[in-house]
Amino acid sequence: MAPGDSKIDVLIVGAGPAGLMAATWMARCGIRARIIDKRGTKIFNGQADGLQCRTLEIFDSFGFADRVWKESNHMLEICLWNPDADGNIRRSDRIPDTIPKISRFQQVVLHQGRIERFFLDSLKEHSDITVERGVLPEALIFDESLAEDVDTYPIDVTLQHLSEEELNPDQSQATNGTAKSDGLFRSNISADDTDDLLNRASQNAKTGTRETIKAKYMIGCDGAHSWTRRQLGYKLEGEQTDYVWGVLDIIPITDFPDIRMRCAIHSASSGSVMVIPRENKLVRLYIQMTTTERGGGKLDRSNITPQMILECAQKTIAPYKITYDYCDWWTAYQIGQRVGSEFSKNERIFLAGDAVHTHSPKAGQGMNVSMQDAYNLGWKIASVLNGTANRSILKTYQSERRRIAQDLIAFDHKFSRLFSGRPAKDVMDEAGISMEEFKDAFEKGNMFASGVAVNYGASVIVAKDGDAAEQGDGTDVSVKNPNGARVIGNAKLARNIKTGMRMPSFQVLNQADARPWQFQEMLKSDGRWRIVVFAGDVANASQMKRIKNLGSSLAAKDSFLYRFTPPGTSIDSIIEILTIHSSPRSETELFDFPDIFHPYSEKEGWDYWKVYVDDMSYHEGHGHAYENYGVDPGKGCLVVLRPDQYVGWIGEIEDVAEIARYFEGFMVQRT
Ligand code: FAD
Repeated sequence: MAPGDSKIDVLIVGAGPAGLMAATWMARCGIRARIIDKRGTKIFNGQADGLQCRTLEIFDSFGFADRVWKESNHMLEICLWNPDADGNIRRSDRIPDTIPKISRFQQVVLHQGRIERFFLDSLKEHSDITVERGVLPEALIFDESLAEDVDTYPIDVTLQHLSEEELNPDQSQATNGTAKSDGLFRSNISADDTDDLLNRASQNAKTGTRETIKAKYMIGCDGAHSWTRRQLGYKLEGEQTDYVWGVLDIIPITDFPDIRMRCAIHSASSGSVMVIPRENKLVRLYIQMTTTERGGGKLDRSNITPQMILECAQKTIAPYKITYDYCDWWTAYQIGQRVGSEFSKNERIFLAGDAVHTHSPKAGQGMNVSMQDAYNLGWKIASVLNGTANRSILKTYQSERRRIAQDLIAFDHKFSRLFSGRPAKDVMDEAGISMEEFKDAFEKGNMFASGVAVNYGASVIVAKDGDAAEQGDGTDVSVKNPNGARVIGNAKLARNIKTGMRMPSFQVLNQADARPWQFQEMLKSDGRWRIVVFAGDVANASQMKRIKNLGSSLAAKDSFLYRFTPPGTSIDSIIEILTIHSSPRSETELFDFPDIFHPYSEKEGWDYWKVYVDDMSYHEGHGHAYENYGVDPGKGCLVVLRPDQYVGWIGEIEDVAEIARYFEGFMVQRT
């Protein structure tokens, strides 16, 4: 939609990783959205770099993980270096970087600028949404009384379009001799320039246009200094520490043997360094700048130079040597660990990413968790706007993501303390950090840091036992059966599929053409819900009878599938049925399954991409999907997946009435 149009469904403020993820959902779900950013350009180098395996799974569901996988540096091993009895650093441990088998991807590193590029290309391919740069909001008026009326535009925002003059950030204080680019002007130790930009624009006669737009929804993805958060009067709660960390992206010249491994190096008394090997021969060094602690006074940022960061690193890794000829980027950070008290205003204006949580960069979580906030939120807003779901699902954004942000802060707090502390000399040295404890935290932290451990609590869209059905306003929103019992399905039917967690992936074969696929590849982020039918051993006549009965229930014209699908659209446009059976592929035919499992269309015939089998492939082995998912082939089960691949409900093949009640809890009936 072009600037000048006065109404929009979703306004996204900020085109960092969180904002671009939100825009990507809008593009895939056909929502009218605008995304604005105060900066004149995207990021080109430096800043965040680590990508969790869960983030790669998400990128794959949007179709661009392959680009990241190809360009990134793959992280396979972590080496821990500690002082020995004589105080010299030595390698004490090697551990796998990503816990084997938790995902089909492993952690990789690639700088934020490339990630933003992939999002921008994807937006271009799938929509006409483009980032409007040099545009920032100046005023926000929100009419709370209209919040629950779905068709209204309760948000009024005045946007300021900056001129070229205001667009170029002031880097005059950068003290960088060699770096092509420094990140201090974006760092949290520099004052936020939003108000300054707006002031300058108001005094500049040449400033571009000002426009007022009306929006149904607004998402503030405007970073740690969030203007949107300030307008809502919300605060980040937690600590702002005195610790300052320096970050240096260099091509290292060194004799340190593990420079191409991720390393945590604790020296006896000269601080700690984290080494992150990067793409294009680069290596990132994170160094705690013990010499620049604020101690209550204001930090003088002109104290921090790349040379000074390097000198700190040199002391830590002595007697090994490190220097560089080429520095790609550098910055300095002040560590704060804070979470927003509120993630939304009346489920109309939302905050995501750094706007609602800040923490240290060392665990490589910032960009990931920020994108995953928007990944959790985007489809929910799109479903309400498209008339698929009612507004109750929007409350689950805060109930699901605030807990993740709190877990992240707790993890970061522990990890930072262990990383920043001086190693203990022996067991009697209570002021020092136990290196065993550090290793233990690192290993346990790896599960959390992979992103696959996220487990959302019970809610209107997560049917399981648990307290979290109580939403922020104290309402129990869980769905009930006619006897008053909560809809919670029967999670025992799939031992390794957990309600509230993302669907794991194992190899299955397409029944129609024998091609092996990772099952997650079928779970595209296109806004659709999915029912996975674990049909079991359908060669057994009684099992096949159960599947045929299921097919008849689903195909009945009054079934929930038809009730929630808009007339005139294909039967899989809102809820798609995917089947995995466990009988030999060569003894089974696609057409053995009820038609509704592989729907027919006048224009394209039968759908050959809906029925899969757990069997041996010709070239890629056997996925053992039933064993890995923990499903008994003699019984089978049904699994409901949300559009973000998280498991909403698990139950028996006969539990069609309960699935219907699950969907009735939040879906809008269309017929
Ligand atoms: P951001 O990336 O901050 O994006 C916010 C966007 O909003 C920006 O493009 C900004 O220009 C725009 N914006 C802000 N205010 C306005 C406004 N009023 N109007 C319009 N647009 C606005 N994380 C790691 O995991 N590893 C790292 O090494 C690492 N290094 C970092 C170094 C620096 C200097 C910084 C600042 C952050 C670093 N992070 C790192 C954190 C990581 O970059 C963030 O967690 C992640 O970028 C958060 O994404 P976001 O989209 O929420 O916010």
